[in-house]
Amino acid sequence: MLGRSFGIIGLGNFGSTIATDLERFGDYVIGIDIDKQRVSRHVDQLSQALIVDATDEEALREAGVGECDVALVAIGEDLEASLLAAVNCKLVGAGEVWAKAFSRTHHRILSRIGVDRVIHPEVEIGQRIAQVLHNPLVRDYVSLGNGYHVVRFRMPESLEGKALSELAHTEEHELRCVGVMRGTEFIGRDGMDCELAADDLLLLLGKRDDLRDFAAKL
Ligand code: ATP
Repeated sequence: MLGRSFGIIGLGNFGSTIATDLERFGDYVIGIDIDKQRVSRHVDQLSQALIVDATDEEALREAGVGECDVALVAIGEDLEASLLAAVNCKLVGAGEVWAKAFSRTHHRILSRIGVDRVIHPEVEIGQRIAQVLHNPLVRDYVSLGNGYHVVRFRMPESLEGKALSELAHTEEHELRCVGVMRGTEFIGRDGMDCELAADDLLLLLGKRDDLRDFAAKL
């Protein structure tokens, strides 16, 4: 797949992390900030780093944000600047507009003005941490909706030496083991005979209560 292009507006911790990671993945990233020092820190790290006031529609257009696949507004505290920047990204014609919200009201207004995806980092991280705290064996998870999750599960000692096929489908808990991460190697369907080892991470699919129940009985 060819790299995508992004306009990241606001190079604070949040915007800067996203911008530099996308650049590392091979995407084309235009980083924008009103603060000269923040921009100069990114000059060598991004495809372009520009001093622009995102509340100025024309300046944003000239910066090339209208040609980006996605414009992401990562201005946190200044509500007016965040909303104006988001509207301007839409007006200049960015493919999609994403924006960070710092409150429910901010979130609602961004949705109302047609922002394609509103990110509320504190809420999203809080939900993630709660899932991981709730089940002590869970290292990480992805929510699939309707209560289903894929989780990365620390290998309990009681499963060491068992074959992956024995876990492939546990009738009792309606869980599916879709594979194992052994270091950086993924062992899937082809490795159903392999014996589970101490540092493996199991990839399990199921509902939260079943995952919790399964962990409690190990
Ligand atoms: P973070 O929480 O991501 O660390 P922060 O708290 O340092 O961010 P915020 O107020 O959330 O700062 O703003 C993020 C960035 O957005 C800052 O670097 C700020 O200079 C920039 N910014 C604010 N207003 C504008 C604007 N009108 N145009 C472009 N950039 C702006």
